[in-house]
Amino acid sequence: MVRRPLGNDRRGPDTQLVDSETTEAELVTETNGALGDLVARVRHVVFDFDGPICLLFPGDSAERVARDQVNWLEERGLSGLLTEQERDHPDPHLVLSAVAGRHPGSDLVAELEELLTQQELRKVPRAWPTPYAYPLIRTWVAVGARMAIATNNSSRAVRKYLADRELTDCFAPHIYGRTQDLSLLKPHPHTLQRALNAMGAAPDSSVMIGDSPTDYAAAREMGMAFIGYARNEEVGKGLLEAGVAPQYVVESLDRLLHVVRGRS
Ligand SMILES: [Mg+2]
Repeated sequence: MVRRPLGNDRRGPDTQLVDSETTEAELVTETNGALGDLVARVRHVVFDFDGPICLLFPGDSAERVARDQVNWLEERGLSGLLTEQERDHPDPHLVLSAVAGRHPGSDLVAELEELLTQQELRKVPRAWPTPYAYPLIRTWVAVGARMAIATNNSSRAVRKYLADRELTDCFAPHIYGRTQDLSLLKPHPHTLQRALNAMGAAPDSSVMIGDSPTDYAAAREMGMAFIGYARNEEVGKGLLEAGVAPQYVVESLDRLLHVVRGRS
């Protein structure tokens, strides 16, 4: 037995044990087979937004947004609400969730949530479209899939992005984002549940496309299949460590597009 990369550029943890006789091409075929079987049986597709559809905070902009939130709290004499670690954490959702955990349902949380929504809306015009997301979504819809978005971002930011990119018709009205109740953010399955209920979708004919362990946890909770989009090695490692099977982790949506096209 040897370790072989699963795909063209997978390294380290993005590998699986294979028989030394197995070629890389055969492995890719096997992986496409697993994806093909899944794609053949699903009718409803629930996308996470930031990652699989676009990169809303490219580069270090997530950290700058989180820093703005910390500054906003400091200006109000409230920075003590955060631990030192939270003040330095680059994830804007973590800052918001930390405050919400200490003051659930407060005006402060509502204001901070609105601040994050405004920050997300400002980022939309400069978000990086995920390679192959547009043709994947269009093609999948064309072969009969129904689509929704379940995200921890503001649904207002998602709607703006979809309108700017002429993708609204593929998802509307099934866009489920952050609400004032931050305890319902993924990994809570709330947004997925709303999506499936509204589409009249059974979990076993549905798949989530996500890029984080929290997406996977929410999909598992709902009993639906999951395909992980790993835009880089670190994301892939996180998904594999969370328990996503390697055959359901793709480094490019091109792989998935290829499989969906094979259906038509
Ligand atoms: Mg994401």
